[in-house]
Amino acid sequence: MCDFRDAQGRAIDAGLAVYFPAPHSYTGEDVLELHGHGGPAVVDQLLRSCLEAGARLADPGEFTFRAFLNHRLDLAQAEAVADLIDAATARAARSAARSLKGEFSAEVNKLIDQLIDLRVRVEACLDFPEEDVEPFLAAPLADALDHLARQLSIIKAAAGRGAILREGATVVMSGPPNVGKSSLMNRLAGWDLAIVTDIPGTTRDALRETVEIDGVPVQLIDTAGLRDSADVVERLGIERAREAIKRADVTLRLFDASQSEPPTDAVDTEGSVIHVGNKIDLTSNFPQDTDDVIYVSAITGQGIDALKVRILGLLGWREEGELVYTARTRHLNALDRASWHLTEARGQHDAYELLAEHLRQAQVALSEIGGAVSSDELLGQIFSRFCIGK
Ligand code: GDP
Repeated sequence: MCDFRDAQGRAIDAGLAVYFPAPHSYTGEDVLELHGHGGPAVVDQLLRSCLEAGARLADPGEFTFRAFLNHRLDLAQAEAVADLIDAATARAARSAARSLKGEFSAEVNKLIDQLIDLRVRVEACLDFPEEDVEPFLAAPLADALDHLARQLSIIKAAAGRGAILREGATVVMSGPPNVGKSSLMNRLAGWDLAIVTDIPGTTRDALRETVEIDGVPVQLIDTAGLRDSADVVERLGIERAREAIKRADVTLRLFDASQSEPPTDAVDTEGSVIHVGNKIDLTSNFPQDTDDVIYVSAITGQGIDALKVRILGLLGWREEGELVYTARTRHLNALDRASWHLTEARGQHDAYELLAEHLRQAQVALSEIGGAVSSDELLGQIFSRFCIGK
């Protein structure tokens, strides 16, 4: 406990001054933390006094950047700090906290260690071609590569889920007018978002809302009815709907289960499609759910929980408590590249030089995740997005 005073000795506040000698601090350097009572005027005065005494304000993310430079955190952990602060849901926060503790980096490092081990053996065979390399470079090599590829795909799946927690997934409602797209969207969102009418073609524009399905942020997009129309505005809406469906993670293709069968024509999308038979409250005669079709009532809520489970499943969540690492596009790209090189390496039984090079490239890609190979530009991009003082 002490008094905080300005250069003229006038009291500003009373609080705690906590000194962390290097290397036992967040940044790994000497750190002095002042804990005061707060309040904008008091904090402002305290900051001014510190600046007058020679301190300067930190840049965005500077504390975490220093921690990274002093090897207190690797790059993936530093990014997890920002993700933890920005986390929109409790689930996203938990996954960021796990990456911050270093679990994601530890898994990636395990793969790197195995790759190094494999490279040492392959390079040895290259250096001593006269030796009998067969005992190693036949089946055991293929097994080792398969094992690595399997582990990499587990990490990729966990990172893919993490990326969805960070960025959200898109789910598009599609189908002819009046099948209940707006009603289902409201049901999934839990409140009245879209205007529901029984006049066909009233939802003319794509309508978006981010909702949480079991802690996973999902952007729901309600589209205009997909039908031929003479109306120019509605035609524009239909065009936008097609675009939304193409890029969506999941498309819910609604049909009126009280009047028709599920449609069978193909959908132009890069994501997954679920057929949703709506309005089952109007008929006692609807079939069991299948792998492709789920039956619901947007009005009574029947079948909605099963639909949510199916949506989460298509986004990569098969069961409770599945492994998730907070991940960014940068990580996913690196994992994809490593995976591509492993697959290529798998096909090079006879060309050991190429095999060795693919293993090296896979290692380089994985090392980028922890920041072992990183440009100043990349570091600048990552840390400039932090808030000041973090
Ligand atoms: P959209 O044009 O596909 O967006 O359809 P709407 O959500 O606007 O719904 C069209 C009409 O169908 C409205 O009168 C809704 O109240 C009705 N409707 C939607 N879902 C259901 C349902 O599950 N059961 C029944 N009985 N009516 C529904």
